[in-house]
Parts: sequence; C-alpha cells; structure tokens
Amino acid sequence: MSQYTQSQPKRLAILGSTGSIGLSALKVIETAPESFRVVSLAAARSVRVLAEQARRHRPEVIAVLDARAAEELKALVPPDLAGRVAHGPQGYLEAAVGFGPDLVLSAMVGAAGLVPTFAAVAAGLDVALANKETLVAAGHLVMAEAKKTGAAILPVDSEHSAIFQALMGNDPAGVRRLLLTASGGPFRSASPAELKRVTPEQALNHPNWSMGPKITIDSATLMNKGLEVIEARWLFDQPLEKIQVVIHPQSVVHSLVEYVDGSMVAQLGVPDMRLPIAFALAYPERRYWNLPPLDLTKTGPLTFEPPDMERFPALRLAYQAGQAGGAAPAVLGGANEVAVESFLAGGLDFPGITACAASVLEAFPGRPADSVAAVLEADRWARAQARAWVAGRG
Ligand code: MG
Repeated sequence: MSQYTQSQPKRLAILGSTGSIGLSALKVIETAPESFRVVSLAAARSVRVLAEQARRHRPEVIAVLDARAAEELKALVPPDLAGRVAHGPQGYLEAAVGFGPDLVLSAMVGAAGLVPTFAAVAAGLDVALANKETLVAAGHLVMAEAKKTGAAILPVDSEHSAIFQALMGNDPAGVRRLLLTASGGPFRSASPAELKRVTPEQALNHPNWSMGPKITIDSATLMNKGLEVIEARWLFDQPLEKIQVVIHPQSVVHSLVEYVDGSMVAQLGVPDMRLPIAFALAYPERRYWNLPPLDLTKTGPLTFEPPDMERFPALRLAYQAGQAGGAAPAVLGGANEVAVESFLAGGLDFPGITACAASVLEAFPGRPADSVAAVLEADRWARAQARAWVAGRG
C-alpha cells in the first residue's frame, strides 16, 4: 500500500483518461477537487479531449500513443503543458510510475494497458483496475507481483467491485461460490436466426450500462462476462469451478458471494459506473459523492436466470480458455478484440465474433505465459490468426 495519508490530496495517475471509464473518473474527481490531484493523464489519440483535461488538471505528464499524436497535442496546449507531453511505451510508463502516484487508474482499452499496469504493480503502487486484459491475459503474473510488492489491486468493474465489497470482513476460505451477475445484453431473448442479423448499431445499444464500444459488444456476446470470470479467478484467488454467472437483466444486484453456511452477500446500486469508480478512488474510505441513489421501491421485480451457453457460446469459450491456462486466455482476448473490431467495421456478422475467437483458440498449440513478454507474444499471435480468419471469410 502507498504512503497516502488523508490530510493530503490523493495523487492519481489516469491511464485511459479519454475513454468511458476515464471520463467518468474525472467527472467523479471534479466533484472533490480538494481530495485528489491528477499527476498524469494517458490516452491513445483523442488529443482534443486530452488537451481540455490537461488544461483543467495540469498534470506532470500527458502521454499519448505515438509521436504524431504528441505533436497534435502539443499544438493544442499552452507551452508549459506542451513540455510535459510524452509518447509511446516510454511515455505510458512515465505516466504510470514516473511521478509517484498514490493510485493508478488503469483504464486503457486492450493489451496496451498491460505493460504500464504491470510496471505500476511492480513499483508497489496501488492500482484501480478497469483494464480487463491485465488480469485476463496476465492475472497470474500480476497477482504474484502484487503479493511481492504489496500493491493493492482494487477492481473498478462493477461485478468485481461488488464481490470485493461482499468479501470485506469475511474469511475467503468460507466462500462456496462467487456469482457474477450479467444483464444478458440487448439480445438476451433473440433467436439464433435473429442473432445472425444483428447490426453494430443494435449491438452498441446496451439496455442498462453506458460503456465504450468494445465492452458493449462484448456484453452483447457475453464474452465480457466470460473474461470477467477469468478476472475474478485471479483477483479473488478462487478456482474457476467456484465462479458462476447468473443473468440478472435489471443490473441492480452487481454480484454476490455465497458462503458455505448458505448466506449470500450482495452489493446493490444503480447501474452507473461512477459508483464502482468512486469506491475504488476513495478506498479504504467511503465518502459522499452526490451520486444517484438506488430507490428499491422503484426498481420493480428483480429476476435471475441461468445463462444460455448454446446461444452465447462465448461464455463457455472463456471457461475453456481459463481451464487451459497458460497463454490461452491471452489468445482468447486478443482474437476477440480483432473480431469485435471486424464486426464493428462490417467485416463479420455477430455470431462470427465468437466463431473467430473459438477458431483461433482451437488452433492455439498451447504455450506457457511465464512473463509479460510471453503474454504479449501470444496476444500478437492471436491477433494475426484472427485477422487471417476474418480475411479468409470475407
Ligand atoms: Mg462488468
């Protein structure tokens, strides 16, 4: 844990500041400017949004993907801030660990977030983790490193935040099951024929949550829930057999822990990502944020049903990758990311997303993932395979 004391503002590194989570986090932070100081901002290429954030928060470093984005950003900010612009992997590292933040919010999308997040954990910095790939692809490495350095990993995902909270004060040895809730996405009751005709516009229209495009598509295929199962395994050190998914279309119960005595402990709230973000930012405090409260008298009936792994095979695929272990989850994640991009670009139909990921996972000869470099190599292999699969189909 960091040396953070409550009398001083908490120093934050925001990796992925222009994405959905980053924007929500900054919104939350701006309601409590006396409690937080943003020391770094990192994003890929959204230089206009980033320039505006930089002017407002005046971080020590602003990191972007490449030299071109860096030049564009420099032209948009005053000279003193232009001098703080960094880029590329080195820039991201500087944003993560360079200015001794008390907490690193890891919210970059995709595999790009893994390296700076791992560096933060290796430096013993506490991490509020929203980047799925970090735990899906390298959960064993990240958690082992966190144990070594004492870095705390605080989940930002609503389900993992719920489980984290439901475990507080309880002995993990008494856990019977972790139950991740899933809304089921917009096509929960669609037939296989209807699923074949789903357009990107329909898939991007999530019934409850407002999120980035990649995760919204993953929610529609249930791949998101599958990746969350793998994340939960590492985050809470529980075997996959003890992690189950239940469809809960209202997204009010954010997840549950069942204990061996039969008790279930759940966390509830409105489906608003600012809630788990605020919890992670303030942890271990609970503070007032003026966020929308949950009115139980107005939620209507709360329903639960088992997931249909026939219509949504991505969930089963994720369990398979998790059981296979090694680099298999990294392969699944990399292939899925390419497949989702292809779907959004019109190059694949909706069932094709999971079919592509399944085909790449099946072709994977199996390889250990004993270093971040090995994980990234597996990710690259999977992406190339997925691109070839999509091209072969088109
Ligand atoms: Mg989630």
